[in-house]
Amino acid sequence: MKTVSAYRLLSQAVDYPLHIGITEAGTIFSGTIKSSVGLGILLADGIGDTMRVSLTGDPVDEVRVGYEILKSLGIRQRGINFVSCPTCGRCQINLIKVAEEVEKRLGAVEKSLTVAVMGCVVNGPGEAREADFGVAGGRGEGLLFRHGEIVRKVPEGELADALVEEVLKAAKSEG
Ligand code: SF4
Repeated sequence: MKTVSAYRLLSQAVDYPLHIGITEAGTIFSGTIKSSVGLGILLADGIGDTMRVSLTGDPVDEVRVGYEILKSLGIRQRGINFVSCPTCGRCQINLIKVAEEVEKRLGAVEKSLTVAVMGCVVNGPGEAREADFGVAGGRGEGLLFRHGEIVRKVPEGELADALVEEVLKAAKSEG
């Protein structure tokens, strides 16, 4: 909050472009949260012309976190906007495993696409339909969606592969 206050004061006092960042934010977990909150407040206030994310970890993650912050605020789009549900008693597949795998395997896609991984047939199809690509889990299987239409039913063990394949195909063909 000291950083936020300092940048707020500075932005009132001078007319220079400001490079914003949260210094010594910590590890990937805690540093991501502190950077997201701090930079999010500043950017939402319209403060910041360039930014950095500083984490005790792989610099690649710093870039990924930076883009996620910008994507969340709707300032810049790049790569996958990943949507997944928190799971509940309705979920009958190992959704956490599928979601983690899909997000990881699509990490290098630069094209801006929304991908949804949802756990059940009750609330899942809505989100999966609204996304560019999505899956909605069932009992030991799931439905695969592409631009709002059901493509096919896929066994649980092949859900991640099927979804990743569809997205990569689109990322290539649509540029
Ligand atoms: S989409 Fe289905 S499984 Fe996921 S949280 Fe919502 S109701 Fe539960």
